[in-house]
Amino acid sequence: PSTVMWFRRDLRLADNPALLAAVEAARADDASVVALYVLDETLWRSAGANRLAYLRASLQALDEACDGRLVVRRGDPADVVPQVVRETGAGAVHVAASHEPYGRRRDDEVAAALDDLGVTLERTGSAYAVSPGRLFTQTGGPYQVFTPFRRAWLEHGWPSPARRPRQVPWAALDGDSLPEGPEPTAHLPRAGEDAARRRWRDFLADGLADYPDARDRPDLAGTSAMSVHLRWGEIHPRTMIADLAAAQADGVDPDAVATFRSELSWREFHADVLHHRPDARTRSLRAVVPDDAWTRGEQEDEWLTAWRDGRTGYPFVDAGMRQLRATGWMHNRVRMVVASFLVKDLHVRWQRGAEHFMAHLVDGDVSQNQLNWQWVAGTGHDAAPYFRIFNPVTQGEKFDPDGEYVRRWVPELRDVAGRRVHQPWKLDTPPADYPAPLVDHAHERNVSLDDFQRGR
Ligand code: FAD
Repeated sequence: PSTVMWFRRDLRLADNPALLAAVEAARADDASVVALYVLDETLWRSAGANRLAYLRASLQALDEACDGRLVVRRGDPADVVPQVVRETGAGAVHVAASHEPYGRRRDDEVAAALDDLGVTLERTGSAYAVSPGRLFTQTGGPYQVFTPFRRAWLEHGWPSPARRPRQVPWAALDGDSLPEGPEPTAHLPRAGEDAARRRWRDFLADGLADYPDARDRPDLAGTSAMSVHLRWGEIHPRTMIADLAAAQADGVDPDAVATFRSELSWREFHADVLHHRPDARTRSLRAVVPDDAWTRGEQEDEWLTAWRDGRTGYPFVDAGMRQLRATGWMHNRVRMVVASFLVKDLHVRWQRGAEHFMAHLVDGDVSQNQLNWQWVAGTGHDAAPYFRIFNPVTQGEKFDPDGEYVRRWVPELRDVAGRRVHQPWKLDTPPADYPAPLVDHAHERNVSLDDFQRGR
């Protein structure tokens, strides 16, 4: 007999309560554990080349950790998982619960199909320190505002990390090969649980103390770069929170620890919002401008293309868009600025920008991506003032004070020294191969404010 551990967005062995449950169930029955990954066409068809390449590398790392016994099967999980159960006579299928709209629907379908075989889908834990749907306000509703959510999240607390199971009796079973994807366009970070741990230990040692000062500076490597590892579950946030507490006990500034933990709670907040409002994946939670405010037709396509290609003529925006293409990642400050520029300067709907991000980000995650876009667009239900409009020049001057970041990603501006690089149109001889600004920020800002006024 055997038990199935179906890995999804938890591609690790350490601190994985679902795996521990599977291993314990198997030991009680003297059974083996099938390590299963289902390559679900619905998800991988919409993934860009970078995401697929990263996933492939992470699955290879997981396979090694499972003594080469990871079984990859391609197809619809509602067919594949029951098929594996029939082949192996498994008594249960273990997973970490999904909270995204598609994942929940898929799991319900799989659970129903397994039910027909008399087998249960055992859901243990989730990808979050506090599972979405767990915290409610005093009046019993879901949280809509971040700060009170974070307070409740901190008060709720979380269990200690689960131990890593040793000597798992992995079952041998035939699998399918991984699909050959298109070549990644980006230099991707190393994938897998060991790489995630290494990156995290390096950040704890060298980055955490400076995080509050350095995190908003895209010209410095001041953030953890853990988002991709969290996205694929190569590390669990609970592990990170426990390590943060240990770092604080070892003398790291409590403010640095609190600041970093607060960022992790943003991730949990967005997951909670999407859990309660699955429609937020595609729909604005609030309409803030009238429908005629949006750019349409050829103009929209032309502007969207310039934005995607990093040719808007605003260097800070263009640097971000090119960093995204080249690395599959973009610094958070720049994500906010480029998103604001698309929605408030080019008047293009946030959904179109979110789609481009999802195709290119290796950390692309539906709850984080869509709700951060809604936050910037002012259409989410958080308290962000909907009329906030980022100025692409002053943001650049403030957060890339010497222009290093721009020069790194926009080679046409490589010879422009210092912060003047943020306004190349003011140079005596602007570089000929760099575009003039697509729009006038001051003017478009007024258009947006006017739209907001009309939308009230
Ligand atoms: P750090 O500063 O080191 O932060 C540590 C961790 O905290 C991150 O790994 C992440 O898990 C979490 N975190 C930090 N900032 C945020 C935030 N604003 N919202 C939620 N969690 C946060 N993050 C994703 O993981 N996937 C996405 O698809 C995604 N899309 C985004 C789209 C837009 C328009 C914006 C403005 C932000 C988006 N973010 C997304 C959030 C944030 O930009 C990234 O998590 C962050 O840049 C990752 O880099 P890091 O790991 O070095 O961050």
